[in-house]
Amino acid sequence: MTTPLKLNGRLTIEDLNSLPEIPIEGITYDQMYIEKQPICPEYIPPDQDIIPSSKRTAVIDPGRICMPFGAMWAAVGVHKCIPFVQGAQGCTTYPRYTFSRIFREPVSIATASFHEDTAVFGGRKNFIDGLRNLIIRYHPEIIAIITVCSSEIIGDDMEGFLEEAQEELEEELGPEVLDGVKFVITHTPSFAGSHVEGYNRAAATFLKTLAKRTTPNNKVNIIPGMITPGDIREIKHILKLMDIEGTILFDISETLDCPLRLPQPMPYYPKGGTRSEDIRDMGNSLMTFALCPDQGGAGAKYLEKRFKMPAVIGPLPLGIHSTDLFIKSLAEATGKPIADEIKDERGILIDAMADTFHYTMGMRVAIYGDPDIAAAATRFCCELGMEPAIVGSGTESKQFVKDVWATAYEYDRKPIILNGSDMFEWEDYLKKDKIDLILGNSKAANVSKEADVPLVRIGFPIYDRLGYQRRAYVGYRGGEYLLDLIVNTILDSKFPDDRVQQ
Ligand code: SF4
Repeated sequence: MTTPLKLNGRLTIEDLNSLPEIPIEGITYDQMYIEKQPICPEYIPPDQDIIPSSKRTAVIDPGRICMPFGAMWAAVGVHKCIPFVQGAQGCTTYPRYTFSRIFREPVSIATASFHEDTAVFGGRKNFIDGLRNLIIRYHPEIIAIITVCSSEIIGDDMEGFLEEAQEELEEELGPEVLDGVKFVITHTPSFAGSHVEGYNRAAATFLKTLAKRTTPNNKVNIIPGMITPGDIREIKHILKLMDIEGTILFDISETLDCPLRLPQPMPYYPKGGTRSEDIRDMGNSLMTFALCPDQGGAGAKYLEKRFKMPAVIGPLPLGIHSTDLFIKSLAEATGKPIADEIKDERGILIDAMADTFHYTMGMRVAIYGDPDIAAAATRFCCELGMEPAIVGSGTESKQFVKDVWATAYEYDRKPIILNGSDMFEWEDYLKKDKIDLILGNSKAANVSKEADVPLVRIGFPIYDRLGYQRRAYVGYRGGEYLLDLIVNTILDSKFPDDRVQQ
């Protein structure tokens, strides 16, 4: 058996030259393993001039991914909707891979499959051919047209292309086929923002295209943001306990965490997802709740402006205070009383917090994630008596800074806030500080290992552990789950065995 390759922390030409040739019959996992060895046991801080991301043109270890991904996530939460990506195959392949590794579910995403000729002559032909194939072979009810960097740079006129496509396809396939398909265009040039903005834009475009005002209903609209299927189920549980009818826009609870039942008719669509008629009816609701200001706030603002529908934008109902606000606003909007079961769930969380306060109190924590999640986690940590020392978001957001400062002021904390920074900068602060715990996504796993600071996984993306997508972090029960994760991680890493018995 070949010995695993040893690297001394940095890949060199010698390392590359020493790579064994791959035999024709392939290699084993043992042979693939590359052992990383630190250059020295202590942390050697990099040149301080390159630390602040604001001074660099290069992003090192980004904490965000590209804008179309957020719009694709949104579209996957709509029943019988297929995203059609006006760009190259790579812009579609890696989101499909990301969905599979986070949610372990197959996701259908179509692509215009740009090549060199498309970049020169434009994507009109690929677009019309692609829509035609999609409609004939997959019979979708909605096609979410999503642009990418290349189609935006070459200036593809998507609205014009769509008109032409509809005319051509109506002639070829007949109006009865075309009338059964709705089209929503979302412009997502990735150089103008991250996945957070992609989701936000999709919330606005879906509502602009589909929501109508007809007869008022007694429902509430919920735009959840990029939270887990488990979170969405928790929101539905709260609505059910309060006897409130709600429409969840981009309901991924049964598309990205779908029961496997056979037989599956082809073309296959999961049974879940927000129905197009329900999105249409969102123009008639009592109120809109955008749980994440940066991921969906634009949709709530659109409904507010267009239909004078009151909007509650954030905070994400995670922990005691923010969940209290959400429940109270729901009760006020609908006139429904707060159910006793909800009061009990709150009581159970408070009890769990009181039981474990001596473990969490004073723990210094570094937080990293999307702005809404990072801000919500900061508040929950403060509620647990912890000290958020460094709070970073991969996507820049004014609301994130405002929310974290408000929490810090309320709890008399002084965190370092890194707004729209990369993980390289956040990591440097973390390694120079004395941090007890990290709250972050899977991208923080390497930093956690290197700095020997335990990691509690939260937010997007979590791809290196199973089951997180099924769990809820929001609501009182979600808070209970997150509290258990935090406390058990502290017990695993910070407490001597004999103290854990006490
Ligand atoms: S950054 Fe632009 S080109 Fe790259 S995958 Fe995302 S959309 Fe495509």
